[in-house]
Amino acid sequence: MPNKPTKNSNLEINLLEDEKPQEKFKVTLQKPSKIKKYLDSYVVGQERAKKSISVAVYNHYKRIINTSYVSDIELDKSNILLIGPTGTGKTLIAQTLARFLSVPFAIADATTFTEAGYVGEDVENILVRLLQVSNYNVSAAERGIVYIDEIDKVGRKSASASITRDVSGEGVQQALLKILEGTISNVPPKGGRKHPEQSLVSIDTSNILFICGGSFSGLENIILKRTSKGELGFNSSSISDNPKSFEGNHIFKSVIHEDLVEFGIIPELIGRLPIVSTMSSLSDDEMLKILTDPKNALISQYKKLFQMENVILEFQEKALMKIVNLAQKRNSGARALRSVLEQILMDLMYDVPDMVKPGTIKITEDFILGNSGPLISKTIKKKSA
Ligand code: ADP
Repeated sequence: MPNKPTKNSNLEINLLEDEKPQEKFKVTLQKPSKIKKYLDSYVVGQERAKKSISVAVYNHYKRIINTSYVSDIELDKSNILLIGPTGTGKTLIAQTLARFLSVPFAIADATTFTEAGYVGEDVENILVRLLQVSNYNVSAAERGIVYIDEIDKVGRKSASASITRDVSGEGVQQALLKILEGTISNVPPKGGRKHPEQSLVSIDTSNILFICGGSFSGLENIILKRTSKGELGFNSSSISDNPKSFEGNHIFKSVIHEDLVEFGIIPELIGRLPIVSTMSSLSDDEMLKILTDPKNALISQYKKLFQMENVILEFQEKALMKIVNLAQKRNSGARALRSVLEQILMDLMYDVPDMVKPGTIKITEDFILGNSGPLISKTIKKKSA
């Protein structure tokens, strides 16, 4: 039978290397309630943030999909700023959104950016990453989501700082501004710095959704200063010593653009991040839920690892609470849960492959405290050498 030309024919490869006519990438519009419901199965708590982001994302893609809708009202792009302590789910929300919408997703760390011409990464490299995860389909990249972490770290240096060159501050914000508001950016497809002989790929950023996140440590004092001035006429005490407190969470909700300017973000950049959502630090109950409830929850993951060794891993309720307490002490939100669990289970994960199975291992509070071994059902014995 003669070979039918397949998708993998030489022709296809040549086209890929030259200029392959690219398939137009389509996004399906999803209602806010559906987006929120999907987020709920991965992200614990953060109800306000999940709701406002669901609306923002719906509007963003509605705006893109309905470009043919004739109207003299132009819809502005709504990039999102997520403010909240580390390890509370900012990246997770952005990542989960991209997965739900099946759009390309890239994460960048704002602290690695420097102004063009200085050592470090060009801001435009964010787009290179997006292009790479889109398999070089420009149309797909142009509908993607980019999460820029640590946006608070590119704040302008305060007026009192010595004015040397502000390599990572305002220059970077200016570069980000262009990309966020929508521009045609010419990027080197393999990344790195541009040089004259290089062929560049043009990416239109006007329909890319940018979600910027940061912990904005110190912002709570700026808000407090403003609000207490207004209400009481003097500055009240600092709460920065206890950012996890209820007041710390509560105060972030009162953030206005002027506070972010005082923090060091240039007004134009704030203007390009019109949706501001705040994330709360996680309560013990929420941390407990994160351990067990979401799809892919950590406890399920460890159970699975042990199950692959024919061992049933169980956790006493009190043991789970202890894990939460230990993690809360590390002040890095849910991020700490994994390292605490890893530490607790490391010896067992070392020993179990040498044991005769199957059986059950129960993690108790006493085991976590180092007062006893785990409860191991009799069927598990160490293999004799
Ligand atoms: P950040 O707010 O610093 O971006 P991440 O989203 O990266 O934090 O969270 C770190 C890890 O902690 C994630 O991989 C996730 O498993 C877990 N996590 C954080 N917050 C939540 C949450 N609200 N719900 C479920 N898991 C969470």
